[in-house]
Amino acid sequence: MPLTDKFGRAITDLRISITDRCNYKCVYCRTGNEGALYGDLPFDDYLRMARVLVGMGVMKIRLTGGEPLLRKGVVEFVRELAKLEPQGLKPRSTSDLGGAAQAAPFPDNVPTRSTNDAVGMGHPRGVDEGVRHSIPSDKDLGNLDIALTTNGHLLADVAQALNDAGLTRVTVSMDAVDPERFARITRVPNGFDQVLAGIRAAKKAGLGPVKVNCVLLRGFNEDQIIPFGMFAREEGVIVRFIEFMPLEEDRMWSQASVVTLDEIVARMAEYRPLIEIPRGQSETARRYRFDDGEGEIGIIAPVSHPFCGHCSRIRITSDGKIRTCLFSVWDHDLFAQMRRGATDEELAEYIRGVVERKEERHHIGEPDFVPASRTMVHIGG
Ligand code: SF4
Repeated sequence: MPLTDKFGRAITDLRISITDRCNYKCVYCRTGNEGALYGDLPFDDYLRMARVLVGMGVMKIRLTGGEPLLRKGVVEFVRELAKLEPQGLKPRSTSDLGGAAQAAPFPDNVPTRSTNDAVGMGHPRGVDEGVRHSIPSDKDLGNLDIALTTNGHLLADVAQALNDAGLTRVTVSMDAVDPERFARITRVPNGFDQVLAGIRAAKKAGLGPVKVNCVLLRGFNEDQIIPFGMFAREEGVIVRFIEFMPLEEDRMWSQASVVTLDEIVARMAEYRPLIEIPRGQSETARRYRFDDGEGEIGIIAPVSHPFCGHCSRIRITSDGKIRTCLFSVWDHDLFAQMRRGATDEELAEYIRGVVERKEERHHIGEPDFVPASRTMVHIGG
């Protein structure tokens, strides 16, 4: 039976943090004093976890960190992941909004497929969530959708290799289009040009449309909203603004520091009118196109417009723990099950029990809100 929680939500998206080390010290994420806390596992361990979860219905895997490109061997890992063939629920495309997931037959093993399938057939890569092309995407053809979230600093040199290995999409975290402001937020000198080069290399490699995620923090970068709208149109990338969430190391979050969806839309409309685009059920971003059809932005608004009702995600941390929600106060030690010699079936049973206890929603801003047991850099977004 496909992996579903007690609220009837199908779990089809897996995020794997492959390291909690990071080469940036973004002010809304890290205090900059703490380094990596949890360490990494060998890629074969993540691969086994992914294989079991793909067999249970996972269709999308996103690699995160810390900064995932700090891990040597990430290209090879993507190549191995791309050999897995999804068996579970097949999310319905954006065009038939409101449709429930189609159940695919659920065999008891996961066949591998030859790597040249993906490359030889020359199917266009990177049909992004919600951006539909008439040509069927790899996703439509049942390939695993493999994405990566990176700060882009190391991307330019590996973009082509990642694409050739089977990566479908890339999201680059970037919180200012002004190099001076960028350096102030990341607390790393001369990063802006590196990241811009990484974005352009990803587009050139065929990992498009590239998404650029910007966390907005009142008093830091809300004046970057319109410049990012221009950037999306000039660079041909999808810029997504993210409401600041209480997941930072020095716990300085407040409701007042959140730049909300409504504010972002109002500010951007001062530049050009926006038209909202329909989106799939489990998509986290609200999507908008500019009135002249040139360029697209998205807004991920977990604070002002929560989307927990259709949450399809679970996460594996760099040290092999399952987190059923970004705001979990518990970790579930999947790696310990592997270390004690559990079979794949036993791992699947363990995962089913954990998902059964998935949180219904977050409680940000509510009196009973309890901070997550880990901060973002140690979860992986
Ligand atoms: S806060 Fe938790 S339940 Fe809500 S969308 Fe995020 S991960 Fe899912």
